[in-house]
Amino acid sequence: MAKVAQFYGMIIDGRQVPAASGEVFEVHNPANWDEVVGVAPQGGRDDVRRAAEAAHRALETSWWPRLHESRQRGRVLLKYVELVEKHKEDLARLLTREQGKIYKESVGELDSLTNTFEYYAGYGGKIAGEVKYVRDGDSIVKVETRKEPIGICGAILPFNFPVSLYAWKVAPALMAGNAVIIKPAGTTPLIDIQLTALLQEAGVPAGIASVVTGPAKTVGDEMVVNPHIRKIAFTGSTEVGKLVYAGATQRLKHVTLELGGSDPTVVCDDANLELAAETIVRSGRFRNCGQSCTSVKRLYVFENVYNRFIDLLVDETRKLRVGDGLDPATDMGPVHTARGREEVEAFVADAVRVGSTVAAGGRRPDGPDWQRGFFYEPTLLVDVPDGAKIWQDECFGPVLPVKKVRTLDEALAQANATPFGLGAGVWTESERRIEQFVAGIESGIVWVNYKPLSVPETPFGGVKDSGIGRELGAEGLAEFLETKSIRTYVGKA
Ligand code: NAD
Repeated sequence: MAKVAQFYGMIIDGRQVPAASGEVFEVHNPANWDEVVGVAPQGGRDDVRRAAEAAHRALETSWWPRLHESRQRGRVLLKYVELVEKHKEDLARLLTREQGKIYKESVGELDSLTNTFEYYAGYGGKIAGEVKYVRDGDSIVKVETRKEPIGICGAILPFNFPVSLYAWKVAPALMAGNAVIIKPAGTTPLIDIQLTALLQEAGVPAGIASVVTGPAKTVGDEMVVNPHIRKIAFTGSTEVGKLVYAGATQRLKHVTLELGGSDPTVVCDDANLELAAETIVRSGRFRNCGQSCTSVKRLYVFENVYNRFIDLLVDETRKLRVGDGLDPATDMGPVHTARGREEVEAFVADAVRVGSTVAAGGRRPDGPDWQRGFFYEPTLLVDVPDGAKIWQDECFGPVLPVKKVRTLDEALAQANATPFGLGAGVWTESERRIEQFVAGIESGIVWVNYKPLSVPETPFGGVKDSGIGRELGAEGLAEFLETKSIRTYVGKA
């Protein structure tokens, strides 16, 4: 008898519930499309409205949003960290089966989540406005600011990091005393349901954290237009981000947008080439099967070390083992969807058509074992001419284009010549070159002789078409707070 896939109810008003319509959809494993990982409710506008009503009630009646309860909120977030730690292995397996990334990376995402919740829990008792006394003519006036929660916040998530990006939004939103409604990507709803179920167990009051699963055009759009939702924290593509921005700003909502990127990295001739090649391959381009917003997506290498560096990159890339993410021997899982893989193939075909050389990969792995998932070999494209689409558009898959440059000025000019501005990396031992790169690069984040690292202690976000606002760090919390400014007459001066 065929195994019946588990049903995961979405979470509204503290309970796991089906969609108002009763409809469901299946979630499949990108490494084996025949496997149904689970079944989720096909939510719609009514479900977002139900979640918003529950959030509104919870903000009116529960202790959660009160300014003097931030330490208690911090304790709940720490309890949540404990619960996630307890269930980490099961959660990591679910994430790998639903998203495709290797198990080790799934554990890494859960670590990023717990680190982020722990970091924001530390703001308990520390969210503060300020008090000053001023003279107004012959009067003394106390002027005061309070940092209040915004109210109901919507978190719209992409498929590539359904756990860490959940934390980057939900942890600061909750710490600030808001209610939050989460809309996962259409293909990764299950892990976000499980994470939100644990929030209820940790003691977040019913209605304060909901998750509504379902299509972008109804669930996503209702989040943007619903008048009760006062802030949208969005991560996804630039194309969709622009639509969300237009809809949300028309309704004067707070908006943060973490959007696409085509991050450049420059390898200078004085760099530690072995370390650079290993880092770029292992932690830069092919992590998460190339589906990371911050990543090494364009590589510029000084001409006098170019050939040697390509050899190192080829060696490192050929060491990577593609396969099912639950196999401990696997270094890189499948592309998340069939369409995603076709887009990657189109980038490679275009680059080859205009004259690039495929130095590694460039195809699907051969053989019947590979037919059930969306596998693609880690691919190096060298001598990629200027006209190739991959220099301009975001390629969201395991393909690294490489090009020769003569100077850092030339590299910077090329690195800046896209609409994007998320992250950027440089490899050099020269302080002067580091300073020139940091000052000249148009990006929100810079990595110097290091992998594309994100940690809760410091802000994350892009410039230009890569977004607006910041997540993580103190700035990430400030994005979820309103300032109320109060003037109180004290007496005669
Ligand atoms: P996407 O833009 O297709 O979808 C993102 C989310 O928006 C999904 O939940 C989707 O259902 C929803 N959505 C789609 N249309 C909508 C609409 N009209 N109204 C409201 N919601 C809508 O992105 P994706 O393919 O899931 O993720 C990949 C993209 O995300 C890449 O471009 C990547 O660079 C970007 N990304 C950026 C960051 C960052 O921090 N800057 C992080 C991760 C991913």
